[in-house]
Amino acid sequence: MTKKKLIAGNWKMNGNLASNDALVRAIAKGMGDAACHVAVCVPAPYLAQVQMLRAGTQLELGAQDVSTHEQGAYTGEISASMLKEFGVRYAIVGHSERRQYHGEADATVAEKAKAALAAGITPIVCVGETLAEREAGKTEEVVKRQMAAVIHANGHCISEIVVAYEPVWAIGTGRTATPEQAQQVHALLRAQLKAATAQVERIRILYGGSMNAGNAAALLAQPDIDGGLVGGASLKAVDFLQIIAAA
Ligand code: PEP
Repeated sequence: MTKKKLIAGNWKMNGNLASNDALVRAIAKGMGDAACHVAVCVPAPYLAQVQMLRAGTQLELGAQDVSTHEQGAYTGEISASMLKEFGVRYAIVGHSERRQYHGEADATVAEKAKAALAAGITPIVCVGETLAEREAGKTEEVVKRQMAAVIHANGHCISEIVVAYEPVWAIGTGRTATPEQAQQVHALLRAQLKAATAQVERIRILYGGSMNAGNAAALLAQPDIDGGLVGGASLKAVDFLQIIAAA
């Protein structure tokens, strides 16, 4: 059985009411009955807006982060159950920008994945090495360590997650991993997950890092690349739709 690919847009801290309206309408109209799953992960204040805009379409809704806590005195945090109330299907956890700028450790990312799963939200768990780590020959060690924390915390639920391999040096830089470089890491992540669950074939492993209309087809043709997490190119309907078409 071949599983449907997933193309998820990560808007990061971009958008406003007017531009979101135009973008979501254009994506929903252009994708029609897409052959893959499509989601947009939007800034939290716009979840309600995008939930309404996507109603009756195939477009799914995602958040960019989730709290490790269920509720309580955690100012500024947003719980998984709150996201769920707004129709959120996916939550990105452990994006490299959160690891880098907000000091999120592997264990925190693992707890976030757990909190999402407990609320019925699919975490999109990001892993990836920095340029310095790649050049030091540490890619495998780093992504396996990041993945191991999530496997350890989530036990048999691990088959419910989505993984995104996002080499940090390729995010927002215009520098993409070659299909072969990406496939190599995807294959080793798949092997690591296989050792943790008999249901490994359920798990989608996305590639992220300067994916665009020009390089998507070659990346998505790799045997272990099950979709894309798309930043910059998800903000332009034409580009995002071309990636969706490639999937
Ligand atoms: C991302 O932010 O997850 C990402 C992959 O960004 P970009 O596509 O812009 O490199």
